[in-house]
Amino acid sequence: MPDPRPSQPTGVDYGRTAGPARRAPLEDARVEFRKGNFSYAAPARTSALLDLPNPRDWQPTDADWRLPPDWKRIILDGMADRLRRYRSFRLFMDICVRCGACADKCHFYIGSGDPRNMPVARAELLRSVYRRYFTPAGRLLGGLAGARELTEDVVKEWFYYFYQCTECRRCALFCPYGIDTAEVTMIGRELLNLVGCNINWVLDPAAKCDRVGNHLGIPPHAFKDSLDFAVDELEEITGIRVEAPINRKGAEVLLVVPSADYFASPHYYTLLGYLMVLHEAGVDYTFSAYASEGGNFGLFSSHELARRLNAKIYAEAKRLGVKWILGGECGHMWRVIHQYMDTMNGPADFLEVPVSPATGTRFAHAASTRMLHVAEFTTDLIRHGRLTLDPSRNDRWTVTYHDSCNPARAMGLLEEPRYILRHACRRLVEMPECTIREQTFCCGSGAGLGGDENLEARLRGGYPRANAVKYVREKFGVNVCACMCAIDKATLPTLFEYWAPGVEVAGVHELLGNAIVMKGEKPRATDLRGEALACRDGAADA
Ligand code: SF4
Ligand code: SF4
Repeated sequence: MPDPRPSQPTGVDYGRTAGPARRAPLEDARVEFRKGNFSYAAPARTSALLDLPNPRDWQPTDADWRLPPDWKRIILDGMADRLRRYRSFRLFMDICVRCGACADKCHFYIGSGDPRNMPVARAELLRSVYRRYFTPAGRLLGGLAGARELTEDVVKEWFYYFYQCTECRRCALFCPYGIDTAEVTMIGRELLNLVGCNINWVLDPAAKCDRVGNHLGIPPHAFKDSLDFAVDELEEITGIRVEAPINRKGAEVLLVVPSADYFASPHYYTLLGYLMVLHEAGVDYTFSAYASEGGNFGLFSSHELARRLNAKIYAEAKRLGVKWILGGECGHMWRVIHQYMDTMNGPADFLEVPVSPATGTRFAHAASTRMLHVAEFTTDLIRHGRLTLDPSRNDRWTVTYHDSCNPARAMGLLEEPRYILRHACRRLVEMPECTIREQTFCCGSGAGLGGDENLEARLRGGYPRANAVKYVREKFGVNVCACMCAIDKATLPTLFEYWAPGVEVAGVHELLGNAIVMKGEKPRATDLRGEALACRDGAADA
């Protein structure tokens, strides 16, 4: 693979950047689809499975994208429709003053030096077309008013740059007007969707989730196998047999986790942690074989697809007759739940406001979604002394915490994971302030950009995150980065292997699971990974 490290990681020497092919005037819409820097298109079969428009086999490198004959009308009608429906979109098209406060805040810009990766320039890709067709100044003055024609080259440029934005919303944090470029990207992707331009890494998981229940396409019997295996393994480690029921009608709580938690590593150890917490808290819960996915790749293609995938969680909650829903360590699931669910499929008034059966705490902030994050639930247990913890069992780790974009910026879940980690580990250090909490840097692979074909762009985009991890590795000896997002757990290992070797990735509930002393457990010899357990002050765990 070519070395993706830019010659000037934070520089703006556009002439010498190793990013996309050198290009001078911003008016020139032509882009070069260079291997390693774009995602493959979704094939006809996948688009058809989801009933999406213009299914066909094509690739971004094709000269002719075989857009429908009336593609221009479809896109402009789609834009007009969204300008009518979403006040935020209209506002974001109108109010940017080009102050530049967002310009250097995007990890893709920092990592690539490509000026079109500045958030303001990314939004301008759409804004310039908006001006041309929807504002008097743009219609009359054209380029003088910052307007440009919608051409096939512009569509290709949209595809390139809207699929080089992870919808992380870091830029929005710094915009004095609150312009959320992630929302602009979402509309850009929706407009591309209308003419059949989608990426496979988004549509394939979405189609599987729609038909089978989860992004990985794991059928119910394999889902059960995987949970049974986890129960057996936990018994081997702790001597305690926990329950992991599926589709149990009348349970109090529906547990929904990202599918990677029961089929990928290191996610799987997080699942073991959940099972331990739920057992210790005595929660009457069930998994669902159809709502066997917390993530929502629909969000990365269109609001409609996001709504479809989110709906099945609530349909399953209704069918199983649970009182409320508990959600696992996922990223964008929480963006959908906190920011869209209520108007997409809610309010979920057939459910009850979550109340912890172990502590009696009523989680009033979930009164509309009726869905609680597992970190909120666990924090409450620790606060009430309902978990016995031995943090010395994690002494082989010096931990840092990466705030996953969506839990941090979309739901403000900043303190709970730190509270859990401080009780589960003895060495927790923070990365520099400007790279954590609300200002956290994205992994560079979210919003459907985690494919292998896109690796060069991912390594560039993940550079700021990895650089901060490298800093704490060198300064404090950090050897594990905890996080609460399935995409992070899947993509950070590759990122760190390249930029910060020696740093592993773990879920918050994995580290917690190592520390939990279960009631009646046998002497513990290993942690959840099967590694020899670190013990308090070097003593054996008696
Ligand atoms: S910070 Fe906001 S107003 Fe300023 S250039 Fe960026 S999007 Fe426009
Ligand atoms: S949402 Fe994130 S990836 Fe997209 S432009 Fe803003 S900072 Fe960049």
